Amino acid sequence: MLLTEELESAKTYGDIFVLVKKAVRNTLKEHRVGLMLYLGNLPMNVGAFHPMGTNDIVLNRKLLKAAAKTEPKWKAYTFSILLHEYLHSLGYHDERQVRGLTYKVCMENFGSDHTVTDAAVSGPWVNLSQEDFQAMSEDMDLERVRDFERIESGYII
Ligand SMILES: [Zn+2]
Repeated sequence: MLLTEELESAKTYGDIFVLVKKAVRNTLKEHRVGLMLYLGNLPMNVGAFHPMGTNDIVLNRKLLKAAAKTEPKWKAYTFSILLHEYLHSLGYHDERQVRGLTYKVCMENFGSDHTVTDAAVSGPWVNLSQEDFQAMSEDMDLERVRDFERIESGYII
């Protein structure tokens, strides 16, 4: 499939996010830039959170640490969770629609028997409310991931 080999050579969150954006561009012809990634402590049934109206994605540090025991699992979780939150950031707010699109994008770019597509089906897709998120802010211990988004065109800041 289209992105299977590229995912195998991906090493970092930034590498995987490049592939998330490629996959969405392949399937939905949509694209955006300007996102920032953080790791934070969220409840274990929550993969990540995108506070609405911000450019931030907060990934669940403990969940990904647990998944990191095997590399394919870590990549599958990271890819499917980042993809889900990226779709929210493109303006898709309906949860069922986002889950359906996450699955479709994974299917079209990795095929039905890839770990990424399994992760897209199984979740964790429990949602945090904005209020819950704000209430936990202090215990989250947010840490910004550097080099998350690369500038793809050649312009100089
Ligand atoms: Zn969601």
